[in-house]
Amino acid sequence: MRVFTATLATETNTFAPLPTGLSSFRERGYFKAGEHPEAMSFFAGPLWAARERGRPLGWQLFEGMVAAAQPSGTTTRLAYETLRDELLADLRAAMPVDMVVLGLHGAMVADGYHDCEGDLLQRVRAIVGPGVVVGAELDPHNHLSEAMVTQADLLIAYKEYPHTDIKERALELVDLCAAQVAGRVKPVAAVVDCGMIVTVHTSREPARGFVDRIQALEGRDGILSVSVTHGFPWGDVPDMGTKLLVYSDSHVDPDGARARALARRLADELIGLRDELTPPYPGIDAALDQAMAFKGGPVLISDGADNPGGGAAGDATFMLRRMFERGIRNAALGPLWDPVAVRIAFDAGVGATLALRVGGKTSPLSGDPLDLVCKVKALQRELIMTGLSGAPTPMGDSALLECDGIEIALISLRGQAIGTDMFSQLGCDLAAKRLIVVKSSQHFYASFSKIAQHVIYAGAPGSVTHDLKTLPYRHVQRPKWPLD
Ligand SMILES: [Zn+2]
Repeated sequence: MRVFTATLATETNTFAPLPTGLSSFRERGYFKAGEHPEAMSFFAGPLWAARERGRPLGWQLFEGMVAAAQPSGTTTRLAYETLRDELLADLRAAMPVDMVVLGLHGAMVADGYHDCEGDLLQRVRAIVGPGVVVGAELDPHNHLSEAMVTQADLLIAYKEYPHTDIKERALELVDLCAAQVAGRVKPVAAVVDCGMIVTVHTSREPARGFVDRIQALEGRDGILSVSVTHGFPWGDVPDMGTKLLVYSDSHVDPDGARARALARRLADELIGLRDELTPPYPGIDAALDQAMAFKGGPVLISDGADNPGGGAAGDATFMLRRMFERGIRNAALGPLWDPVAVRIAFDAGVGATLALRVGGKTSPLSGDPLDLVCKVKALQRELIMTGLSGAPTPMGDSALLECDGIEIALISLRGQAIGTDMFSQLGCDLAAKRLIVVKSSQHFYASFSKIAQHVIYAGAPGSVTHDLKTLPYRHVQRPKWPLD
C-alpha cells in the first residue's frame, strides 16, 4: 500500500496581536519532506502512526512536509499558501497513493481563508480523486466545517484535554483508514452543532465521565469513531463552536441514521452539562487570595489569558505585577517570553545581579513592562521541554531570574508550560514553592498536577481572555451560548 502523510497546523487567535508568519512555523516545527526525525513532534501524530503501522506491514510511506506553528494571530496569506503548496507538491510527487493521513489542527485562519483546513482538504481531494482514502487527525479546539467533513473520509480529534492522547488517536485514524482501503469499513459522517462554546477539561468531572462514555461507544453497533469539537472561541470564523462528529460504518448503517441519532443524543447530553463544564475564572486578586488562603502547597494558578498555546504573546505582566505589589514570596512564574531579557541575562552571566526590564513588550494585551532588579540564577541554551504526548518542545535560550522571592523562568521561543522540566532544567524547585503561576490554560495539568496540591484557573486580562463577551466577534454564527 502506498501511503502519504504530512502536517500543516496552527491554532489561530484572530484577536491576538502577533501575526503567524513563515518564521512562526520554521522556528517551531518545520521539516521538509522526508526530514522528520524519529521522535513524534506535536501535530505529526499521523506520520508517527503511519510509521508504526506501516513498517511491519511493508507499506510504502511517503512523508511530506511537517509544519506546525505556535499559535498566534491571523496567519499571513504568504505563510499559508507557501506551506499549503509545498504540502500539495509533496503529495503530487508521491502519486499514485492509496491513502492520505494528515496532521491538522482545524482552527487555522489565514488572510482570505476562514477555513484553511477545508481549503487544504478540498485541494488534496482534487489531486487524489474520489477513490483514495483521506483522513486527518484534529485538535478538538477546531472549527469543524462542512468542507472538512465532506472532503475527508475520516476526521478524528484528540479526546483528552490536556491533549495526552495524540498517539492513540493517530493510530486509530491510520487503522480505520487502512480498513477502508481494504474495504472492511466505509465511514459515514454525522455532525451536530451544539449552538454553544464550552470548555471541556477532561481532567475533572463532568467532562471525564462524558469522554469515557463516548469512548466506550466506539467499535460497537457499527459506530467507528466519536469526536467532540470543543471549539476555539478566540477564532472569529463562521464555523466556531462546539460540535459532535460521529462516524458509523455504512455496511451496518447504510443511511447513517444511527450516526445521526447518536450525534444528536450526545450533543444534547453535552448541552445539558454546559454550566457544570465551565470552571469559575476568579480575577487576579481573587485567585491570589484563594492561593494564599490554601493550607499547604504548592498552589498552581493557570494564567490562561496569556497562554501562547491560545495565541497570546506569553509576556503579560498583569499577574506578576500584583504578586510583587502584594509581597508574595516563595513563588515561581513562567514561562515568560522575553528574548531580549534572556539575551541580556546571558551577557550578565549566572550569579550576576542587574536591573532588567521584563515582559509587557508586545501590545497593551500584555500590560506594561516591569523594571526589576534580578539575580540570574540559571541559564540554559536551547532548552527542550517535554511536551504533549512526550513530544520534544523547543523553548529556545532560557534563563531563571530571582527577584524579591519570586523566580521567573524566561524563554526566547514562545511556548506554554506543559512539562515541569521547563522549570527543573533551570534548577527551579517547584515542589518547594508556595505558589506556581503558569502561562497555560490546561496543557500544564498532566505534568504539574503531580506537584501542585491545588489548581486555580484565573481570569486575568489578555489575548486569550475568558470574558468572551468582550471579544468583538464579526463572523461567528449566532446565536451561540453563552454569548447570546
Ligand atoms: Zn487544543
